[in-house]
Amino acid sequence: MAAADLVTMAHGAGGSVMQSLIEKYVLKHLGGAKVDVPLDALDDAAVVQGMVLKSDSYTVKPLFFPGGDIGRLAISGTVNDICMIGGDPLALAAGFIIEEGFSLMELEKILESMRKASDEAGAPVITGDTKVMERGALDKFVINLSGIGKRNSLLDQNLLEVQKYRDLNARWLLDSNVRAGDKIILSGTIGDHGIAVLSAREGYGFETRIESDAAPLKGTVNRILQVGGILAMKDPTRGGLANLLNEWSQKSHVGILVQEQSIPVKDGVQAACEMLGLDVLEIGNEGKVVAAVVPEKAAAVLTALRDTPQGKDAAIIGEATSEFELVAMETVVGGRRIIAPPAGDPIPRIC
Ligand code: MG
Repeated sequence: MAAADLVTMAHGAGGSVMQSLIEKYVLKHLGGAKVDVPLDALDDAAVVQGMVLKSDSYTVKPLFFPGGDIGRLAISGTVNDICMIGGDPLALAAGFIIEEGFSLMELEKILESMRKASDEAGAPVITGDTKVMERGALDKFVINLSGIGKRNSLLDQNLLEVQKYRDLNARWLLDSNVRAGDKIILSGTIGDHGIAVLSAREGYGFETRIESDAAPLKGTVNRILQVGGILAMKDPTRGGLANLLNEWSQKSHVGILVQEQSIPVKDGVQAACEMLGLDVLEIGNEGKVVAAVVPEKAAAVLTALRDTPQGKDAAIIGEATSEFELVAMETVVGGRRIIAPPAGDPIPRIC
């Protein structure tokens, strides 16, 4: 069988290669359902009869890393995708696939961590499944976490605020909602999660005090929806900020111009990226939100974000524009460069 006929790591890495796998294979067979927000929208979650539905699998390596573990990651990732589209997470379903020989003590640590994160998110795990595969058939432990959410009660008021300034019919916070002139607000530093996971791997030969940002963002999101004027929200997970902005640009048919100096990056993350030759814009995050906001409300949204535990370092990093239809960045040295959609995640298996 030719190499072109085989699945590669890039097919699961959240970039353009995964996108093409989903479009060419998954949507071909599973797409086309008539629901409020279908699979075909490839948004953070789907919406059916007013309920938000999301499923995500977690294969992080190693299972424990500074600032979190696979359990906290799973709860945060699924809950956050439900929140991003305008949902209010209600309950979760956990599927565990465990390799024969896995330590029960580690299993308990993961479950404790899941419980803590789901309490933070206000969304309990209420059903699930456990499977064991024989030794060597699986790398230790995989979680699938699905969730349902109802419509966030703050969403209608938020969209009314948007409609004072924009002609927007969307009922949910979709990737296709971004309009020229919208301010792009990022809730904090990028790259922390990917670098924290990498620092816990053997053989990388670097140490850092960087911790993963993995956290459920329900409280953060509610705080800014209360302010109103938000057209779209998205979490910069696999493929990082670069992938997020390109998805918005392509689906909304707008350009996005960001300023490099406005994007918060911790010194330790910057240093690790330089040492390893990684682009911090492409590294996945698990506790950040990016919002597209009408300019009239941007300052108030920023103030509200900075008032939350997860949003202390929030910044307006740029804006959407009709001048072009791609993503560009004004660099610290004064030039402009195009931010292309990443082919895949530069660090595999961080989520
Ligand atoms: Mg997402």
